[in-house]
Amino acid sequence: MQLKTTQQTSIFRVLDTLNRPVTPQELLGAASIESPGLGLATVYRVLKKLVEADRVQKIELAGVPPHYEVQSDKHHHFFVCEDCQRILEITGCPGGFKKFLPEGFTMTSHEVILYGICRDCSPLTGKEN
Ligand SMILES: [Zn+2]
Ligand SMILES: [Zn+2]
Repeated sequence: MQLKTTQQTSIFRVLDTLNRPVTPQELLGAASIESPGLGLATVYRVLKKLVEADRVQKIELAGVPPHYEVQSDKHHHFFVCEDCQRILEITGCPGGFKKFLPEGFTMTSHEVILYGICRDCSPLTGKEN
């Protein structure tokens, strides 16, 4: 699908460059560098359109604000930092979930979400303050 407006194109490009799940606020911060004067309402509106167009995935997980990332076919899961409330993508999948299904059940998809503390928030390796 062709992106319709310059705003959609530039916001999509910024999201693609960031290459990780971000909140609309983070996206606005990054997009403002090349599009000064961009507002949060616009970012939300464009994200909604991009989600409808199946170009962007909205990630809604318990305990953290919604994040957005470029839609991809790559199988991946998420790590949620309970401190900074960031969602990070993790690669790899344990698989083998079908064995937990009751007899006669069919699994169509699965989600794996790990909760914890990211490196930046870890008292051992993280922030200096
Ligand atoms: Zn963190
Ligand atoms: Zn998986």
